[in-house]
Amino acid sequence: MISTQEHRSEKPRYLAILEENVRAALKVQHVILLESRKILDDLGFVEVLAPVIGPASDPGIRGAKRVTFDFYGKEYKIMSSMILYKQALVRTFNNVYAFAPNIRLEPLSKANSGSHLCEFYQIDLEMRDKTINEVMKVTEIFLDRLLYKVKLHCGDILEKYNKEFEVPKIPFPRISYYKVFLIANKLGLSMNYGDEIPSEIELELSKRSTRPFWIVDYPSGSRGFYYKENPEDTSRLLSMDLIYPHGFGEASSGGERETDVNKILELIREGGENEEEYSWYLDMLKSDGKKSSGLGIGVERLTRYIMDFKNIDNCTAFPKKPGSYTC
Ligand code: AMP
Ligand code: MG
Repeated sequence: MISTQEHRSEKPRYLAILEENVRAALKVQHVILLESRKILDDLGFVEVLAPVIGPASDPGIRGAKRVTFDFYGKEYKIMSSMILYKQALVRTFNNVYAFAPNIRLEPLSKANSGSHLCEFYQIDLEMRDKTINEVMKVTEIFLDRLLYKVKLHCGDILEKYNKEFEVPKIPFPRISYYKVFLIANKLGLSMNYGDEIPSEIELELSKRSTRPFWIVDYPSGSRGFYYKENPEDTSRLLSMDLIYPHGFGEASSGGERETDVNKILELIREGGENEEEYSWYLDMLKSDGKKSSGLGIGVERLTRYIMDFKNIDNCTAFPKKPGSYTC
């Protein structure tokens, strides 16, 4: 299912970006960004400029490391995700979004995964007073309209690189974490119940699927401290992933946010995090934590899925790969 038209250039990047397949992917990305803005505006979202640095950033980034630096004598971080800031921004507007840059030092073992960059962007959405189910529904509507627009405006590109591309039907099917666990066991793939789902298992399920699908009902303790426990069953989190079909793997993660500051503090301490870094976030929740739900969709991975490309480096102008030293 991977495009036979894709070519991976070994040339310096200022030459590689002149090549036809990179140009085509960047054109598709332009349409993704342009149409996302129009659709999100229509759905009642307000665009904000994402923060790039701050005292705290998302620690729940699956084995990747955050970049820290000295900020006038204090340790600061480059955003690994703007999750904490989105929770602040829904205090100002009901629905917010940003094309948010993320920096993550991914492990060297991910260098040739085809889907990992150290610098990438997310379409980050957050909705005040909304449940996880409402966000999933809005995301489906958003992706449905967006993919339709890409198909409409990039027909010539899709004809060349991804002839069989069809806008997947919504709603997307949902499977539970527990079901994933059972399937992994059946396939002889190792997975500890209660841990984050290993990428190999996600990929295997993705390869076996012809439609995007949601994974829901992650066990409590398996993900970031900012996800809320399901009040009807506290052994499960109100958190989900969206997985692309045909082996393209994870598209998005998100969920409903925890607002109980004591629960969050406990998890921050359990995770060995320095709670001082999160002081503004904890103060905000203490003063008036707003119920919200949201998710983030990786822009380069979305481009790769549409282009049917093996390599995510062809889906960004200046790829930063683990271990590489490039412009
Ligand atoms: P996460 O916060 O790890 O769930 O990431 C949110 C989304 O960003 C994922 O679902 C992917 O679409 C995208 N993403 C995460 N890590 C990377 C990476 N290293 N390179 C490219 N995209 C990524
Ligand atoms: Mg994720």
